[in-house]
Amino acid sequence: MSTKMEAPEGLADIRSRKGEGRYADLHVHTIHSDSSLNPAEIITLARKKNLAALAITDHDCVDGVEETLDLGRKAGIEVIPAIEMTAMHDGHEVHMLGYCIDHGSRQLQRELAEIAKSRVARIREMVDRLRRYRITLDAEEVLDFSGPGTVGRLHLAMLLYRKGYTRTIQEAFTRYIGDKGPCYVGKFRMTARQAIESISRAGGVPVIAHPHMLHNDERVLSLIREGAQGIEVYHTEHAPAISSRYRTMATAHNLLMTGGSDCHGLGKGGVLLGTVTVPYAWVESLKRAAGTCG
Ligand code: AMP
Ligand code: FE
Ligand code: FE
Ligand code: ZN
Repeated sequence: MSTKMEAPEGLADIRSRKGEGRYADLHVHTIHSDSSLNPAEIITLARKKNLAALAITDHDCVDGVEETLDLGRKAGIEVIPAIEMTAMHDGHEVHMLGYCIDHGSRQLQRELAEIAKSRVARIREMVDRLRRYRITLDAEEVLDFSGPGTVGRLHLAMLLYRKGYTRTIQEAFTRYIGDKGPCYVGKFRMTARQAIESISRAGGVPVIAHPHMLHNDERVLSLIREGAQGIEVYHTEHAPAISSRYRTMATAHNLLMTGGSDCHGLGKGGVLLGTVTVPYAWVESLKRAAGTCG
């Protein structure tokens, strides 16, 4: 996976006025999904990077929010409760961010418990398929390795690499479990509309994560028509020209804008926390849209 680390265009000028502004990284994973970092490590890093705020956006899971909130409070870093929900739209996988979500919502917890169950079943199926390639993993091992919260393909890829079945983590995706790989098994079938509704019901603001992954602007706009309120303009994998395009799109359609590093700790190309940031004013816009947060 390519990880472009340069500052996104448009923010470089803001960054050069160091110290004047406050910045937020609005896309951060924890060990509760597929990052190697726990909440304490995230807050320590956020302090080093001088972040004013960060959002915890685990895949289909909010278990890491409460602890990070507490630690953030003590360290003077604002933590935005959030999630990154996986859904399908127009035959494509979509990741829907939900900012300022009520992570204690009973209904949300019930929905996420269902998703977690189906993620486990799917890991078992992928492990079965890997047997055809003489890879003998025990599904329980993958579940143990994934630690708390949700289990995903990155855990499986890391284990394949650690056990010497592949030379890199990336190779596990290209040879076996990438979207087009022979051992890939799709996830549960939540639609984008269901994800948007689920986020909205829990008081969150739905925002399309890394829209570039959808390969098509019309598809992005159709998600806006479904109820998404914003797009992630800045992201580690958005080249500067792509971010500029999404900024233009957001302005033209009056959308909220967000951005973040999508830090997964050591799991994906090094610790990215704080390498993609947005002005704190964008956090305020999200909070206004949610009407509840902070
Ligand atoms: P899952 O939600 O279980 O499908 O796993 C998604 C995780 O796998 C996310 O962190 C993705 O970024 C990662 N992932 C998916 N495809 C690839 C790939 N080709 N290379 C590296 N990571 C990938
Ligand atoms: Fe991930
Ligand atoms: Fe994502
Ligand atoms: Zn993410």
